[in-house]
Amino acid sequence: MLSDLQDVYDQVIRRNHGEPEFHQAVREVFESLDPVIAKHPEYREHAIISRIVEPERQIMFRVPWVDDSGKVQVNRGFRVQFNSALGPYKGGLRFHPSVNLGIIKFLGFEQIFKNSLTGRGIGGGKGGSDFDPHGRSDGEIMRFCQSFMTELHRHIGEHTDVPAGDIGVGGREIGYLYGQYKRLTDRAEMGVLTGKGVPWGGSRGRTEATGYGVVIFADRMLQTVGQAMEGQRVVISGSGNVAIYAVEKAQELGATVLTVSDSSGYVVDEAGIDLELLKQVKEVERGRVSDYVARRPGSRLVQGGRVWDVPCTVALPCATQNELDHHAAETLVKNGVAVVAEGANMPSTPDAVEVFRDSHVLFGPGKAANAGGVATSALEMAQNASREPLTFSEVTSKLEGIMERIHFKCATTAEEYGCPGDYVLGANIAGFRKVADAMLEQGV
Ligand code: GLU
Repeated sequence: MLSDLQDVYDQVIRRNHGEPEFHQAVREVFESLDPVIAKHPEYREHAIISRIVEPERQIMFRVPWVDDSGKVQVNRGFRVQFNSALGPYKGGLRFHPSVNLGIIKFLGFEQIFKNSLTGRGIGGGKGGSDFDPHGRSDGEIMRFCQSFMTELHRHIGEHTDVPAGDIGVGGREIGYLYGQYKRLTDRAEMGVLTGKGVPWGGSRGRTEATGYGVVIFADRMLQTVGQAMEGQRVVISGSGNVAIYAVEKAQELGATVLTVSDSSGYVVDEAGIDLELLKQVKEVERGRVSDYVARRPGSRLVQGGRVWDVPCTVALPCATQNELDHHAAETLVKNGVAVVAEGANMPSTPDAVEVFRDSHVLFGPGKAANAGGVATSALEMAQNASREPLTFSEVTSKLEGIMERIHFKCATTAEEYGCPGDYVLGANIAGFRKVADAMLEQGV
């Protein structure tokens, strides 16, 4: 790393104690930037690097709520408005007990470059809470969302900051959040949140978009080596929104999906995941993958292991950060994996990425491969502004075009900088340059 980048990185560590995921995300981007900083002295002169790692605004707030037994609970809420050079802050809300400021900063930082790659004029932000939705009743979820929005509403708006879902926040939560925003502001400001229900301003295809996009991206990666998704053996981790629709798209393209997972373990289904059953268990019943295995003859549940032990040609980590370490990467390589595309945000550890790079496995980083979700959020914002809803097939064909362009941009940028096939470098440089140039033009 060039000394300018190293100095700023050291400062990031000093200034942001106890935030290892944020340090990791910054380092990952900086490791791609040497040739850019060397070539563009104006970035150095205008301190773009030190400015880009400092969020424009960080909001932390108390979220008090009453549980079903009448007890008052208190959680912590966050919204990090990281960078607005390209448009209003945009990024999801995560409700998970592991959430803290460092996690939200890592996600917000990633979001800047991901959103830049979509080409849709959206800045980067992220938010959430350490609230654990697991095992909570519908009434508790509603009261929590209402309390969360009671504070958040003063900081967001369709031209300011537009949250959406992430882990633990889906259509139900967005509904409660939007209802409370409307109640507090007396405005039907549809563009203030994305991931809404279709009858009240949501976009068709938003639920499917991230998972579909990851598979489209993986398919384009395969095409560069004369292959396609058809006939591939695919291993997917997770069983949320991203994983379910990655299964759907991969199957549609003729691949066999062998696994999904959650905290109860992972499923191996050699006949291919039964998508209808998976949707029934996870979306309708809000159950566990163990419930899937109980009803699917021929499938088995593995507890305490890693989904990456199952031999495959395509691996799609769609669960959470740092879920795929270098041991897992070595196993995947040994078993002949050809492509890894990240559906989650930063699911592969730096060591794992190194293993893939050394073994010439095509590796699609999350900020490129999973950008279909936020890109479709931008389509939702456009539909809200124009009041002209798109059909499902209009959305999915736009999504396909967007993923194709992101793939092209990453691939050509990697080539331009002398590292063909390096999607990490391509995504980081292409994503960064657009934001950096916007910051330059907008002054200090
Ligand atoms: N949480 C998603 C992501 O990581 C989507 C964000 C959005 O739609 O604003 O990109």
